[in-house]
Amino acid sequence: IKNARSANNEAVQVIVRCRPISEKEKLSGCCEIVDVYPNRGVIEVKNPRAKSDNERIKMFTYDAVYDSRSSQQCLYDEMVRPLVASVLEGYNGCVFAYGQTGTGKTHTMEGVVGDSDMQGIIPRAFEQIWSHINRTTGVEFLVYARYLELYMEDIRDLLKSKSKKQLVLREMAGGQGGVYVTHLHSQTCKNAADMMKTMRIGNKNRTTGVTNMNEHSSRSHAIFQIAIEMAEENNSKSVKIGKLNLVDLAGSERQSKTGASGDRLKEATKINKALSSLGNVIYALAENSSHVPYRDSKLTRLLQDSLGGNSKTIMIANIGPADMNYEETIITLRYAYRAKAI
Ligand code: ADP
Ligand code: MG
Repeated sequence: IKNARSANNEAVQVIVRCRPISEKEKLSGCCEIVDVYPNRGVIEVKNPRAKSDNERIKMFTYDAVYDSRSSQQCLYDEMVRPLVASVLEGYNGCVFAYGQTGTGKTHTMEGVVGDSDMQGIIPRAFEQIWSHINRTTGVEFLVYARYLELYMEDIRDLLKSKSKKQLVLREMAGGQGGVYVTHLHSQTCKNAADMMKTMRIGNKNRTTGVTNMNEHSSRSHAIFQIAIEMAEENNSKSVKIGKLNLVDLAGSERQSKTGASGDRLKEATKINKALSSLGNVIYALAENSSHVPYRDSKLTRLLQDSLGGNSKTIMIANIGPADMNYEETIITLRYAYRAKAI
C-alpha cells in the first residue's frame, strides 16, 4: 500500500544549503546551531533558548542538503546539471534561490564571477548549454536571454532599463496557459561569453538608479531566462523549445520584526505573499494536485509555463548557521519542508 507521500514527484526537488559562519558572526560571539547530514538529507537545528532537552533539536528531511563546505560544482553537478540537460531536450526548468537576506542566494545563483571554482549556477548553466551546442551536429540552435526584475507588482527589463515602454504580463491567445511580457527584450546569444555579457549588463542595470543596492536586491526577484530553440536540419517540422528560469528571490525575512511601516510594510506584505504563493504552487506540483494556484501572484503567473507540465523545478532554500538567526532559519526550513515533505 502506498502512502500519500509516495506519489513523490521527481520533477520537483527541494534542497537546503547552509552557508559558512561569517567573520562578523564569529566576532560577535555567535555560535553555530545547524548540523547538516548530507547522506540522510537531514538538517538539525538546536534551539539556543530551549529550556528542556526535547525542545532542543528540530529535524527536517529534504531531497538533498548541502553543508557549509559544499562546493559550487558539487551542487551544480548533482542537482542542476540534470535539469539543464532536460532543458536541452526541450523541457522547461526553474531554479529558485530562497532565503533570508545574507544566507547565500546570490552566491548560489551567480557566485563569484570570474572565479571558476566559485562561480554559481548561472555561469555554469551557460557553459553546459554551449558545450552541448558545440558538440551537437544536425541541429540548429537559436538561443536568447531575457533578464527581468519583479519589484512589488512592477516588471523591469534589466536588459533595456531605459525603455519607457510598458511591460505588461499577458496571457497567450488560445488559452493554453502561456504567458508573456510585452516589450521585453530578448538578447540573441551566440556563445557563453555573450551570455556572460548579457548577465553583466543586467546586473549593472539592476543597480542604476537604486540608492541602496542591498536593500533593493533583497526586495526584488531577479529572473534570468534562457530560451533555446532547436530545429533538426532537414526536418522543418521538428522544432523544440526549452526554457530555463534562474531566479534569485527577494529576501524572505519577516519585516514585522524590523518595525517596517507605511510603504515598506506594504512592500513586505507583497513579497511575503509572492513567496508564499510560490510555496503553494510548488507544494501543489509536488503533490501532483489537479489545482495549481498560479494566479495568486505575479511571480507564479510569470513563471506559469515553466512550472508544472513538462518541466522540472529546483527550490534551493538557503540558511545561515548562527544562533542569532534561529527564528528565520526555522521559518525557511518549514517553508521548504512544506513545499515538499518527503
Ligand atoms: P543573499 O543573496 O542571500 O543576500 P549572498 O549571496 O550575498 O546572500 O551571501 C552573503 C555573504 O555570504 C556573501 O559575502 C557571500 O559571499 C557569503 N556566502 C554565502 N554563501 C556562501 C558559501 N556557500 N560559501 C562561502 N561564502 C558564502
Ligand atoms: Mg542577494
